[in-house]
Amino acid sequence: MDKKIDQIIRKAMDGGEINEEELLGLLSVHYLSEESFMIRYASRKMSEAASGGKAEVHAQVGIDNGPCPKNCGFCSFAAVNKVFPQPMVRSLEEVIASCLTLEADGANAVYLMETAKYPFADFIRMAKEVKAALKPETTFIANTDDFDDDGARALKKAGFHGIYHVVHMGEGTTTAIHPRTRLKTIAAAQKTGLLIGTAVEPIGPEHTKEEIIEKTMLIREIRPVHAGAGGRVHISGSVLEDHGVLTSAQTSLIIAAVKLAVGYRVRGHCGGLEIGAMTGVNLTWAEVGSNPRDTETNTVKGSTVKLRQDELREAGWEVLEGPSAMFGTTA
Ligand code: SF4
Repeated sequence: MDKKIDQIIRKAMDGGEINEEELLGLLSVHYLSEESFMIRYASRKMSEAASGGKAEVHAQVGIDNGPCPKNCGFCSFAAVNKVFPQPMVRSLEEVIASCLTLEADGANAVYLMETAKYPFADFIRMAKEVKAALKPETTFIANTDDFDDDGARALKKAGFHGIYHVVHMGEGTTTAIHPRTRLKTIAAAQKTGLLIGTAVEPIGPEHTKEEIIEKTMLIREIRPVHAGAGGRVHISGSVLEDHGVLTSAQTSLIIAAVKLAVGYRVRGHCGGLEIGAMTGVNLTWAEVGSNPRDTETNTVKGSTVKLRQDELREAGWEVLEGPSAMFGTTA
């Protein structure tokens, strides 16, 4: 066991804040080395301590799909990826029915997701109807385009507890969104009292450790309710296809290293399951409707709440019952 890596792991486990150089050290070990398994072990322990040993399954309902002009190269809705030449919007009745099913299935939070092409005012209108249909105690999260202070207030008024928002890997280069725009949205949300879920994603083999470190440190500053890390998913014909994707084994080391960097203060940690759940992932999603990994309108590459709960239990997690503790809606 490398002494320096051992010291960094101990520092994180003891509640110390690791610096950029130390995170670089963690990310630089071979993903199958003894050190990498110690990093994963530490991440799992820290994640358990941060969440009281309880994992959560959140559930997302996508209300529309592409072509989205923001052209994020990793997203199947990006106009440039030509997966969805025509826009498609689900009806309010369909969206409400999906949300109610997920709520009844035991999801700890229900998310509404829109592409950046969908009008924000329509999203708010739909959200109010969904909120009225859900149980009052159900945790309700928005996954939307960027917004300003007025937008944040409208989301809060519509009944959302928080948002999922990410400064993506390659933001501003492989997307048409300036990283500053993403940060302004997060600041507007926090000012209004909306809580933030975020992650270092979507990571591909072409990304440098330095960018992973930059995004991790950014997340730590944001003080989200959950962090995490995710690899990019393969989308045939996408503009990033030639770069390939990381394996789960490679991604799981990054997931673990990010947990050691964000520390105990962040209750949730999301990422791919299986190896990830052994590694410290205690938050995952079931998905209905459109999602950015779809390549056919009616094919959702997500999972049910039950399957996700089973996967977490297989990895030794207890699954929380009731509204999300990560979003502070359960003690
Ligand atoms: S990630 Fe969001 S903003 Fe980017 S292309 Fe996909 S739907 Fe549009």
